[in-house]
Amino acid sequence: MDQEKFRILKTYFGFTQFRRGQEEVIDALLAGRDVLAVMPTGAGKSLCYQIPALILEGLTVVISPLISLMKDQVNALSDAGIPAAYLNSSLSPREYADTLAGAGRGDYRILYIAPERLRREDMYRLGERLRIPMVVIDEAHCISQWGHDFRPSYLVIAEFIRIFSKRPITAAFTATATGKVRDDIVRILNLEDPFLLTTGFNRENLYFGVGRPPDKVRSLLSYLENHRNKSGIIYCSTRKTVEEICRTLNARGFGAARYHAGLDDRERHKNQDDFIYDRTPIMVATNAFGMGIDKSNVSFVIHYNMPKNIESYYQEAGRAGRDGEAADCILFYSPQDVQVNKFLITNGDAERDEALVSHHLELLKHMTYYATTNDCLRSHILGYFGESAPHFCGNCSNCTTQFENNDITIPAQKILSCVYRIEQRGKRFGKLMVINILKGSKNEKLLSQGLKSLSTYGIMAETDVHRIRTILDYLVEKEYLAQEGEEYPVLLLGPRWEEILRQKKALSMMLPKERERKKPGVPADETPGEFREDLFAQLKELRNRLAQKARVPAYIIFSDASLRDMCRKLPKTPEQFLTVSGVGAVKMEKYGGLFTDLIKAYTGTSPP
Ligand code: ADP
Ligand code: MG
Repeated sequence: MDQEKFRILKTYFGFTQFRRGQEEVIDALLAGRDVLAVMPTGAGKSLCYQIPALILEGLTVVISPLISLMKDQVNALSDAGIPAAYLNSSLSPREYADTLAGAGRGDYRILYIAPERLRREDMYRLGERLRIPMVVIDEAHCISQWGHDFRPSYLVIAEFIRIFSKRPITAAFTATATGKVRDDIVRILNLEDPFLLTTGFNRENLYFGVGRPPDKVRSLLSYLENHRNKSGIIYCSTRKTVEEICRTLNARGFGAARYHAGLDDRERHKNQDDFIYDRTPIMVATNAFGMGIDKSNVSFVIHYNMPKNIESYYQEAGRAGRDGEAADCILFYSPQDVQVNKFLITNGDAERDEALVSHHLELLKHMTYYATTNDCLRSHILGYFGESAPHFCGNCSNCTTQFENNDITIPAQKILSCVYRIEQRGKRFGKLMVINILKGSKNEKLLSQGLKSLSTYGIMAETDVHRIRTILDYLVEKEYLAQEGEEYPVLLLGPRWEEILRQKKALSMMLPKERERKKPGVPADETPGEFREDLFAQLKELRNRLAQKARVPAYIIFSDASLRDMCRKLPKTPEQFLTVSGVGAVKMEKYGGLFTDLIKAYTGTSPP
């Protein structure tokens, strides 16, 4: 079994290694366990169920919310030689019946179904005719109304799973789930002792930027000017803004298409396809666009307006850089966005209950914190999802413009000697109390314990509390301080305390600048490096020709990442071609000759 999963990974998907979390999930499913996996967008959730689906006997059913996603996935699977199909409202009754019949005959290994399409009788009959070893629920957060994308049709899934006489393994996948949503998923889907996996939310290849541009249009144009020929999404909060921005961009010669719920189906589909098929590089859209868009080469996501909550923001922004290449996620903030969102929340659904409204207002508050903080943006997001992260990532607009290297020798000495004095008195306190002492707080509890007489009382009165806290956390991280106790952790001197207090070692760290307001975010620099641009362009052209012929999006043939790998490896034989990331047996068979020929021709005429 172990060998089998690696064989499939290489043969069908062309990868040699699993990404973080994938193997654990696959192993759990193959062992027959239910799974709830929370992995960020682009982490590779699909493989986690597609590989077991190919190993488990029978037909795996995947419930997925969006039509475009299904078409894409089925295209990609078919292109890799895996028999798959989908059932959704885009099919005519005839096509629907044909697909269902095909599934019943065992023509497919994976069947995608939209939840609205789950018809008891159909599924019942399917279950009678063949084994359904596993039911997968993609975008599982849609089941919870505490999430940001609640879909009532998801509520029937649990009932549907019960139709089968032998209970299938149930696997739920999502990119965003807070504790509440996670609990809902487990409860509503009746997951039985599920294997829980959270790989962490960090996406290292994404640059995060927040700007507060006085003129959003100008900032947008200047960004796009610097990123010509890149594909990206611009999210706006209203249809009207979408229209305006799209018009402006087109007038300036940028290829942009629009997408919002006010357009008819035909145009929406066409624009979406143009974007996915790389005919139009820029998509200007409301949040109606994107769920299930697996386009891998999106190199920026700009939020022209601030979204309602961090969950939505991170999911939308996360559509950038799925191929693992460097990509930008930029938010244009203006205080007015907060007002607009407040209005939308409080005047949204008339029958929305009060608890829900205040819940959403709370989420909005966190989004606003993100847009206005001077701290590391990445650590802010990760912290929001309950993950601890270094306070400085070096790859966000705050780290690159709001941080500077600070000599913290003196503050470190002050903090450590405060803890030292406290220990001398035979006492132990948590962080908050230590900070209060350093600040010289008049806190009742503090005064009543006589702590005012400590020589370190008030020695950091001039320093911002938040800053003291950041330095203190850093001292813990570096083991100059230690923490003890689970529920009410107290601070102690750490194993390395003497380096600071006795040996007077100098310390420095990156800290937010102490100025008040920040400048508009500056997007990350392009780092072209050494790269065969000309070959890349030729490979892209070949790929596009093939894609057009097969009527599939270009990235279904090969992702940009695969083409880049070809530029690096310059494969000239089938064996070499197989080592390219994303090349499996079927793709080798189909495309190997064409691509290696091109590369041979290229290397023949230009130095290696
Ligand atoms: P998610 O559903 O988690 O957002 P996908 O399943 O769509 O992500 O995968 C995102 C991208 O990562 C796809 O282009 C996929 O081919 C690629 N990918 C997945 N697993 C691997 C792997 N083990 N090695 C390399 N690339 C991978
Ligand atoms: Mg997915």
